[in-house]
Amino acid sequence: MSEPRFRSDIVVRLVQRVGSDAMIAAAARVSVTGADGLQGEGGNPVTDANAGLIRYLMKHRHASPFEHGQLTFYAECPIFVAREWMRHRTWSFNETSGRYRVLEPVFWVPPEGRAVVEPPAFKPSRPVLVESEQVRESVVQFCQHSYYAAWWNYQAMIADGVAREVARSVLPVGTYTSFYATVNPRNLMGFLSLRTHDASATNLSYPQAEIEDAARQMEEVFKGLFPLTYAAFVGNGRVAP
Ligand SMILES: Cc1cc2nc3c(=O)[nH]c(=O)nc-3n(C[C@H](O)[C@H](O)[C@H](O)COP(=O)(O)OP(=O)(O)OC[C@H]3O[C@@H](n4cnc5c(N)ncnc54)[C@H](O)[C@@H]3O)c2cc1C
Repeated sequence: MSEPRFRSDIVVRLVQRVGSDAMIAAAARVSVTGADGLQGEGGNPVTDANAGLIRYLMKHRHASPFEHGQLTFYAECPIFVAREWMRHRTWSFNETSGRYRVLEPVFWVPPEGRAVVEPPAFKPSRPVLVESEQVRESVVQFCQHSYYAAWWNYQAMIADGVAREVARSVLPVGTYTSFYATVNPRNLMGFLSLRTHDASATNLSYPQAEIEDAARQMEEVFKGLFPLTYAAFVGNGRVAP
């Protein structure tokens, strides 16, 4: 019988990318210059002309040029994060199957410093939590207790020959899953605007900390690969086109 393992990290890794700021600018220019917009613009040229055009597209919500790119990420996170992530219908996903393989006993616990308590003035529309190390430690105990019981029951059913698709029903949303997620720059910006809490944003969002962790990791990748588009997004109050 394997023993449960506990972790708190959210893994996000870029595995594939297509496109550049130059491609986005060329896609916009094709309407007036024809299909030669990318000539002489290999790589990801940061030119004033491209920067100005991309800022204009962002501000005026000329969105479709931002669809000419693609990023594929590999992710490991608890199922409750994956559920939130997969609400974004404009992404493509493929996930580890609980039907075809026995799942790994890896479960999420809140890390040190993770706020877990609702303050007296808690508002569901603005869910800001407060820290208490004592309460967090008790949450870890509660979680581990539940995970041990769930994992024991899961393994007992598998040992009895119960189908994996049925046995998995006892596993909690804190169980880690893994998947590939593919998105274009436009829809990544939509995700970033909703799944980060950023004081500079025109529309403040209040995402759960763990999906914000995933979003922030993807934001760093995006910033490096599409610097002009990223700068225009931030300059536009993190409003996606
Ligand atoms: C802080 C926060 C709290 C949330 N709380 C809840 C909750 O309590 N309960 C809950 O159910 N969900 C909740 N959600 C999920 C939320 O309602 C969205 O489902 C999720 O954020 C995906 O957003 P999206 O539809 O813009 O993304 P995508 O599905 O990626 O869509 C991107 C854009 O494409 C267009 N689009 C896609 N599909 C359609 C369609 N069928 N019709 C018209 N336009 C479409 C829209 O313009 C949309 O904005 C929450 C999200 C956040 C960020």
